[in-house]
Amino acid sequence: MNDWCLVYDGFDARQQGLRETLCTLGNGYFATRGAAPEAFADGTHYPGTYLAGGYNRLTTEISGHEIENEDLVNIPNWLPLAFRIGEGPWLRPGDVEYLDYRQELLLKEGVLRRSLRLKDAEGQITCLEERRFVSMSNPHLAGIELRLTPENWSGKFTLRSALDGSVTNAGVPRYKQLNSRHLETVETTEIGDDTILLRSRMVQSRREIVEVARTRVFNGLGLLPAKKTLERLPDFIGQDITLDAEEGRELRIEKIVSLYTCHDAAISEPGIAALQESRHAGSFEELLQSHRGAWKHLWDECGIEIETTANSQVEMKLRLHIFHLLQTVSTHSVDLDVGVPPRGWHGEAYRGKIMWDELFIFPYLNLRKPVLTRALLRYRFRRLGEARRAAHEAGFRGAMFPWQSGSDGREECQRFHLNPMSGQWIPDNSHRQRHINAAITFNVWQYYQVTEDREFLYDFGAELMLEIARFWASIASYDAASGRYAIRGVMGPDEFHTAYPGKDPSEAGGLDNNAYTNVMVSWSLTRTLDALDLLPDTRRKELCDKLGLTPEELRHWDDLSRNLLVPFDGDGVICQFEGYDGLKEFDWEVYRKKYGQIERLDRILDQEGADPNDYKVSKQADVLMLFFLFSADELAEIFARLGYDFTPDMIINTIHYHMQRTSHGSTLSWVTHAWVLARADRRRSWELFNQALNSDIADLQGGTTAEGIHLGAMAGTIDLMQRCYLGIEPRTNVLTFNPRLPEELTGLKTTVRYRGQTLDLEATQEKLSVTSRTVTAHPITIAYRGQTRDISPGQRFEFRLFPEIARDRKVKQDDRAELQRHCRPRRPAEPPQKASTG
Ligand code: BGC
Repeated sequence: MNDWCLVYDGFDARQQGLRETLCTLGNGYFATRGAAPEAFADGTHYPGTYLAGGYNRLTTEISGHEIENEDLVNIPNWLPLAFRIGEGPWLRPGDVEYLDYRQELLLKEGVLRRSLRLKDAEGQITCLEERRFVSMSNPHLAGIELRLTPENWSGKFTLRSALDGSVTNAGVPRYKQLNSRHLETVETTEIGDDTILLRSRMVQSRREIVEVARTRVFNGLGLLPAKKTLERLPDFIGQDITLDAEEGRELRIEKIVSLYTCHDAAISEPGIAALQESRHAGSFEELLQSHRGAWKHLWDECGIEIETTANSQVEMKLRLHIFHLLQTVSTHSVDLDVGVPPRGWHGEAYRGKIMWDELFIFPYLNLRKPVLTRALLRYRFRRLGEARRAAHEAGFRGAMFPWQSGSDGREECQRFHLNPMSGQWIPDNSHRQRHINAAITFNVWQYYQVTEDREFLYDFGAELMLEIARFWASIASYDAASGRYAIRGVMGPDEFHTAYPGKDPSEAGGLDNNAYTNVMVSWSLTRTLDALDLLPDTRRKELCDKLGLTPEELRHWDDLSRNLLVPFDGDGVICQFEGYDGLKEFDWEVYRKKYGQIERLDRILDQEGADPNDYKVSKQADVLMLFFLFSADELAEIFARLGYDFTPDMIINTIHYHMQRTSHGSTLSWVTHAWVLARADRRRSWELFNQALNSDIADLQGGTTAEGIHLGAMAGTIDLMQRCYLGIEPRTNVLTFNPRLPEELTGLKTTVRYRGQTLDLEATQEKLSVTSRTVTAHPITIAYRGQTRDISPGQRFEFRLFPEIARDRKVKQDDRAELQRHCRPRRPAEPPQKASTG
């Protein structure tokens, strides 16, 4: 293993699903799992290919409930390349003995390589060398090269190269009871001597997909004329190529595949396009060259280099994370109308749905390839109509975006989900996570801060923000008892809490005043008013006319942003929601002893007939998300606006309190906790960063990676490097830095783009240098701890870093009263005017 290569030595059936996910190749248009070309879905192997945003709906009846789901469809398998010797059986994994087996994911060039020696039942040994790419330079092309050498046999052998449309969605065992046949085959055709075509259609969304495969065989002297027969089944087409093989002589097989769908731009229809592409495609080597070139360019733009004293492959793992992120969303996604899915296009978990994980993914993309975030935000903008309808139907105004979004932007959350521990289908209330709307506002604003793309704000961003603000204003209500505004009946990021103890989550679900949500709403409303101010007068008027926005409404938003309630406990700790402090303490030790792994406490407790709603247990960071998204300075401003004092001790106490009560049932949680400890406890932060770094590579959640990567956590680890350890914060026209590298990190180098400039950043424990490359761009402002510099292209600045002021993690008993006093609500709100409550 080197810093650019993920290596698996030996074949391990138990790890196959995990390896296939991590060896997925993709280009932002489609992705194919790293399954062997001779394998089919058999419980160990799972060949899966997915289109970015390739969804289809199916309904299933389970226990008297009609369950409708929109799935990310496993489209026809383009990989199949199997062979047999003489009249023997097709050599499949499981029927052969592997003498050697090595699989390598080459991150620098985007190639999956496999080398093996296999022995069949007759004792015949064959050496195979496979290389594979999914082209990053032409999104419609992929290729496999197989070098095959008989080690101790000679004679006739047959190669089958096929396209398999009989595949179903079977990648997630929990979904087994659900209908899974999303495709119907429309056409199978052989074209010329070496080409086959398979056309299939998604049964409900009617999306047509065409795959064309061109297969050629070469020996040392060149292309071999080979005898071919067609193998055609209802959902399958293959060519059987019969050849004479000679002991010790290598044969080289190239399979080049083109893939189009009827949603593609600049085509007449996908069949013509796929055939054209296939006819003009060069050789495997030529296509590989341009693919490698595209990756080189990407790494130059998007790489992060680190020096570390830790000997744990940190750099390779970070690169693996960058690699999978860039394979999920790329410039090839820009015209596709897709979002970025939390599990990548690497498997079927969460059905490829788009959720709030964008919040962890966009910051890295904003600073490297803002063209991608712009496109991903437009995915949201196009679904504004549906979000308006959802708000209206729920009795609110403005736009209410769904927790899970797919093709048309309706709420795609399951109403019931299977608890694999108990085998029971239980109601799913996660759609109450309205905080997704704040995440969208946050993402629009961050994109604007990094790019200063006023045109985006003008045409799309401001409208998104305004409609979301209007939703917040209508869901919030004035609470006379506290003199503040309340948001009731919602869930925070912690999915363990769906309702108050004893309440039925489906009937009287949700919780009141989730602190994360309320603080985010306050911030969002403030930024929305800022965004409105940034628009030229004419556009502002136009938007106000279009949306019927009145000055009273805007005044009400301002008032709301200052007077939302944030719950605190008696010790001045921010409560997750109102009443959280009254819940029962949970006996963590007992459960740890009993179950070992207790990340998914919800499932454990459900199986025991208990309810997590009764306890102080959180699946993931909830309140602590605030410290992840905002610097202490910015949070102090938000709390000041809300009329609450905000002290360093309160940060420490709140972190300490919630850390002890979190099970980390989501991989996102490790990222957030690594982040919030970065300054107070660098060692623990580094440990948690490594935990997040290992979530997929070591499958820390015990089996979930086989169903797809955890892209939020992957991107989160990269973001930790830039926004946390380098302390990059794009804030109101200034790019601030506040580096604080963990002890194990001795150096960090990366390049970011900010408002037209490209900045090369280099940090050590002692200093930070910022060099702006020569381009034509306006000066920008950068800052480190109060030292502000205007930097123009071609200039370089160096900052000597101050040591962090040590903070005592433990708040002394006699400080508590003081803390309580600071964190009490100070200024009750004026009761709202009737007309302005929306
Ligand atoms: C987490 C969510 C997250 C989703 C997808 C869930 O386990 O609770 O916050 O959006 O996974 O990553």
